[in-house]
Amino acid sequence: MTEANEVVLPRGVSAEEFGKALEKFRALLGDANVLSRPEQLVAYGKIMMPVENAAHAPSAALTATTVEQVQGIVRICNTHKIPIYAISTGRNFGYGSAAPVQRGQVILDLKKMNKIIKVDAEMCYALVEPGVTFQQLYDHINDNKLGLMLSFSAPSAIAGPVGNTMDRGVGYTPYGEHFMMQCGMEVVLANGDVYRTGMGGVQGSNTWQIFKWGYGPTLDGMFTQSNYGITTKMGFWLMPKPPVFKPFEVIFENEEDIVEIVDILRPLRISGTIPNSVVIANILWEAGSAHLRRADYITEPGHTPDSVLRKMQDDTGMGAWNLYAALYGTQEQVDADWRLVAAAFRKLGKGRIVTAEDAGDTQPFKYRAELMSGVPNLQEFGLYNWRGGGGSMWFAPVSEARGSECRKQAALAKRILHKYGLDYVAEFIVAPRDMHHVIDVLYNRTDPEEAKRADACFNELLDEFEKEGYAVYRVNTRFQERVARSYGPVKRDLEHAIKRAVDPNNILAPGRCGIDLATYRKT
Ligand SMILES: Cc1cc2nc3c(=O)[nH]c(=O)nc-3n(C[C@H](O)[C@H](O)[C@H](O)COP(=O)(O)OP(=O)(O)OC[C@H]3O[C@@H](n4cnc5c(N)ncnc54)[C@H](O)[C@@H]3O)c2cc1C
Repeated sequence: MTEANEVVLPRGVSAEEFGKALEKFRALLGDANVLSRPEQLVAYGKIMMPVENAAHAPSAALTATTVEQVQGIVRICNTHKIPIYAISTGRNFGYGSAAPVQRGQVILDLKKMNKIIKVDAEMCYALVEPGVTFQQLYDHINDNKLGLMLSFSAPSAIAGPVGNTMDRGVGYTPYGEHFMMQCGMEVVLANGDVYRTGMGGVQGSNTWQIFKWGYGPTLDGMFTQSNYGITTKMGFWLMPKPPVFKPFEVIFENEEDIVEIVDILRPLRISGTIPNSVVIANILWEAGSAHLRRADYITEPGHTPDSVLRKMQDDTGMGAWNLYAALYGTQEQVDADWRLVAAAFRKLGKGRIVTAEDAGDTQPFKYRAELMSGVPNLQEFGLYNWRGGGGSMWFAPVSEARGSECRKQAALAKRILHKYGLDYVAEFIVAPRDMHHVIDVLYNRTDPEEAKRADACFNELLDEFEKEGYAVYRVNTRFQERVARSYGPVKRDLEHAIKRAVDPNNILAPGRCGIDLATYRKT
């Protein structure tokens, strides 16, 4: 893959017009906050998708430090019709990284807006700016002994709550569905207005981070996975740190066990006995996050055969499926819940239970326990060393939390991945009723033939899953237009009608989640 080293102009904008806009950005933000030389933009153009970096090359990158500057930026963008792509901490690895959805957009990097505005330890919430990282918040909570627990995505230490929630990401604690726990946003609209959701518009209100709905239409969701505004503040709820935390793993020998695992788990999740976002990771996810390498087991190209997976299981003690969950509360509560959980798995008659006492400091148990108790780490990046070569795309269809459905999806995904010589590296993240079936399509991006295969594979995964009535909950920027089509024409028409109303010049991240006034044609 080649690096773009020429200046990239925004779509339909002349060099002269772009130059005028850059001058205005410099006057507003200062030279140091306007990056436009190709060498300054390299870090923003690093992607993991199977296309040239040039396909997602930015035209420039801006850094802002105040809401007023963000307002000024959108005004300049409207005048000169410059598309602007906002990122918070910019670590959207496997979904597009920090690069814009389309070539020729100006990145608005909000990492310098990194104030923790408030953490209320009594009401258990935080209000933060977009550049705040999970690590920063974790340190703040610990340093001030606030007794609260965070929920975050696996790249926790370097990612942040605002960006992750804007893409409707997930974590592993009882607060793992992050958008559900979001409460109150401040958004700069395309016309420069500053809009606060929920109770945020009420003068003197102290309930902005307390009551989500406010009055009339509730619009928070409209700003996530979309391009209707730039979020400059976000509130979210925090869980009180429980006196007792009991993580555990259940290791299952056989691939077919997924049916019984899910069916035994569902009532425990729906009743709240197991309160957190449980993970059921397959052998290859487990191996990657334990930092094993494919080359140590097999040198032939193509997918890893089942015989090798079985040998890996025998050598390492890892299961075909590895379930991670936790209990939280007082000792009495945890003891009572543990009796119910242990009885359920005993009744199942299969699965080896591992507790923290058994596991000690071994990986992957250690990092899983940290994720479930809100301690940041970067252990899961080991997945990238399994095959090597830096290619990664998350294929993340939603499934019912029903064993037969999970088996059907797992078999379908595995068949398609193997057809293209790639591995099925997967985990199910278990909500009470749904599963995020998260598959890391790992490939060698430095090998053009393999990259081409990975691209064809991802297309086939989307097509074949759609035929069965499945769709993904989130996708990388290469496939956002394609996935938008899975959700039907009426939704798309409405999304574009809203876009015309709130951003008639199409300046905010055109193309994000398939919303782009310049290319959309009603079907
Ligand atoms: C090994 C590994 C494990 C991972 N595990 C998880 C996981 O457990 N859960 C998970 O959810 N993801 C996971 N990811 C994917 C991703 O890295 C995380 O979701 C990460 O939190 C997203 O990056 P970020 O928080 O920096 O968000 P950003 O990159 O800042 O934002 C994501 C997107 O949201 C939009 N956006 C961001 N900020 C704004 C704003 N202020 N206004 C308007 N739009 C905005 C933009 O379109 C942006 O591209 C994983 C990735 C890797 C490599």
